[in-house]
Amino acid sequence: MLKGQARTKGVYGGNGHPDALLKSLLRCGHCGHAMIHGHTRKRTGTQYRYYVCTTSQKQGTDVCPTSTVPAGAIEEFVVNQIRALVTQPEMIRQVVTEAETVRMNRVTELQQDVTTLEAHLLSRQHAGQQLTRVLEAEGADTPNTLILEQLQQLEREITETSQALTEVKHELLALTARKVSMKEFRAALELFDPVWEVLYPIERARILRLLIEQIDFNAGTGKIGITFRPTGVATLHDEMTSAQQLATQPTEEA
Ligand SMILES: [Zn+2]
Repeated sequence: MLKGQARTKGVYGGNGHPDALLKSLLRCGHCGHAMIHGHTRKRTGTQYRYYVCTTSQKQGTDVCPTSTVPAGAIEEFVVNQIRALVTQPEMIRQVVTEAETVRMNRVTELQQDVTTLEAHLLSRQHAGQQLTRVLEAEGADTPNTLILEQLQQLEREITETSQALTEVKHELLALTARKVSMKEFRAALELFDPVWEVLYPIERARILRLLIEQIDFNAGTGKIGITFRPTGVATLHDEMTSAQQLATQPTEEA
């Protein structure tokens, strides 16, 4: 444990708070803006960590009533929700179904993007061929500069569209290959608890950001909504297995 803390200090070098587990994930349920991490030292010397809505911090509680929430309590709640998932088959099914829906919708969107980009590319290539023919038909000693400029513009557009098309196809391939499986997600959740205990804070924060897209905190009702990231749900098992290996390595060396 001491070893872990010493290493954490080194990693952060005093920048940011190593324990800000929900940084960039937590959102105010009242105004929809980000809740940021802060800390202050009490007169007794103990540190108090909290998350605060950026709206209420900058514009006051008249604009958004969500002021601060104790960091430790809300972090523990979120982690316990993930821990508890393993014993709730219905919740696992729900998370996996939602993740799979998001993934399929994204695949459809990307397929539409491919069609649009390919049609655009083809039309630009046709336009280029037509302009080249005009240039050849004119047969002038000095080529028409207006047409030359148009051709250069077309070439730029063709290059940009081709690049965009490659990127979209790449993302589509990755998403198509990565189906969210219930069996794999459950296996990952079984590893979650033991792995979590041995992870350094920086690794814990990374795992949460991989798995979770957004956490909505409603200060009025005290309700917390967790939105999972489909790619995270699909790859959590890989992450848990490699994190487990990473965490056990120093013990083997010692
Ligand atoms: Zn707010």
